Amino acid sequence: MHLTRRYQPQLPISRALRWSSTFDKRQWSTPLARTLADAIKVTGPISIAAFMRQVLTSPELGYYTTRTEVFGEKGDFITSPEISQVFGELVGIWTVAEWIAQGRRKHNVQLVEVGPGKGTLMDDMLRTFRNFKSFASSIEAIYLVEASAALREIQKQRLCGDDAVMEETDIGHKSISKHLNIPVIWVEDIRLLPHDAEKTPFIFAHEFFDALPIHAFESVPPMPKDKVQEIMTPTGPTKLHEPAKKVSSSPEWRELVVTLNPKAVEEDIDGEPEFKLTLAKASTPTSLVIPEISDRYKALKSRAGSTIEVSPESRIYAAQFARLIGGVASPPPYNQVAGASRKAPHPSMIAPVKRVPSGAALIMDYGTMSTIPINSLRGIREHRAVPPLSSPGQVDVSADVDFTALAEAAIDASEGIEVHGPVEQGDFLQMMGIAERMHQLLRGISDGEKKKNLESAWRRLIEKGPNGMGRIYKVMAIIPENGGKRPPVGFGGRL
Ligand code: SAH
Repeated sequence: MHLTRRYQPQLPISRALRWSSTFDKRQWSTPLARTLADAIKVTGPISIAAFMRQVLTSPELGYYTTRTEVFGEKGDFITSPEISQVFGELVGIWTVAEWIAQGRRKHNVQLVEVGPGKGTLMDDMLRTFRNFKSFASSIEAIYLVEASAALREIQKQRLCGDDAVMEETDIGHKSISKHLNIPVIWVEDIRLLPHDAEKTPFIFAHEFFDALPIHAFESVPPMPKDKVQEIMTPTGPTKLHEPAKKVSSSPEWRELVVTLNPKAVEEDIDGEPEFKLTLAKASTPTSLVIPEISDRYKALKSRAGSTIEVSPESRIYAAQFARLIGGVASPPPYNQVAGASRKAPHPSMIAPVKRVPSGAALIMDYGTMSTIPINSLRGIREHRAVPPLSSPGQVDVSADVDFTALAEAAIDASEGIEVHGPVEQGDFLQMMGIAERMHQLLRGISDGEKKKNLESAWRRLIEKGPNGMGRIYKVMAIIPENGGKRPPVGFGGRL
């Protein structure tokens, strides 16, 4: 009791009253804006990652979880699989080619898609597989990783039919594919996928990684020597007892966090945004740990003013893809590692030893070839760029994908894999034979308008100018380790 009283916030009474009265009367842009503002008021600023997680996939109020018209003309943005069926067909052909190159396993092939949206990519791929009978008969199940119940329902209609029943299972939901008579299984997180060393998983991620939460950091100059170092704790900034000696001699990372804008929230000034990004006043556990996970960030830290974006969750997904394909080397028992304090791994992180790596992953998204993304957080609504922190839950928020970070996480996670790419989408699709397929489709169409539409879809997918998706979008592949001797089709290998 006493403790609670003694530690009550130290706001002057008048300010606290003013704050709460405007706060309560305010017309918030969306219901989620109010919820987030309440949380920030109580706990202090939140990371961009926490903000993204809530605005995109909060079960009640998130963007993906509450909207069904996300993609296409009526929605907010359009993706390659929605532009033309040819995109999914070519990804399907890539998969068959990779399966052939790996020796045509007759059984135990799994298709896994993370973030399937309307299910269009998987549907076009499955249609294509019907022309490759021996591949089709090797597939035993389709796994879909989807956070949104609303989109899960749309995917079920697309892949299983309107009347198909969806049952609940211990890991998620289940129905039966209308194309191949095999189960379609939904889970909400990759960590729920069953691990089985006997399986050959083909994993697809189209515009999924750009939706995974990021943290942003800026390197700040060293503190003057006489200043006492502060760190951020749950009860606010706290001074370190020892005046910083070593710490203050080099720059340190500070996290960019989401705060309330007093001009909107306290003063109610029209047109002011409710949320804004500010640099945390002190180090946080996050800013001390996350930028240290890769050597790529170290050089930048010493240059004050550098900024980086890091997505730990994306690394978890890429690492899991790698383990599903390549397995993990059998770790030495943790109590026998000489001189080391190795901890027992968390059970969810243990993958069975896979004697022969098999399967592949294809990651398709926009992002950087090799540099670390900066300032890439963006908001999209009705095909227009809007501030990413505006109207939480009604704006699609995304960030550039750091392909090198994904490759690094995959390689660290499994010795049984290698990574190819990223290559630009335009080049990948050309190598996969988009021109031949488009000409074949065009020959079958007599209607001039339809012909024009198909040609413009084709251009949009491959063109490298500002209006095309050929350069901005990239493709990266994870395949079983073979000493780099067999690049997959589209990455230097031939069909
Ligand atoms: N692949 C589709 C959809 C891309 S949009 C296309 O290209 O058209 C992103 C997809 O990922 C949506 O299906 C969304 O609901 C899902 N998603 C976003 N964040 C997720 C998360 N954290 N976990 C699981 N699914 C997520």
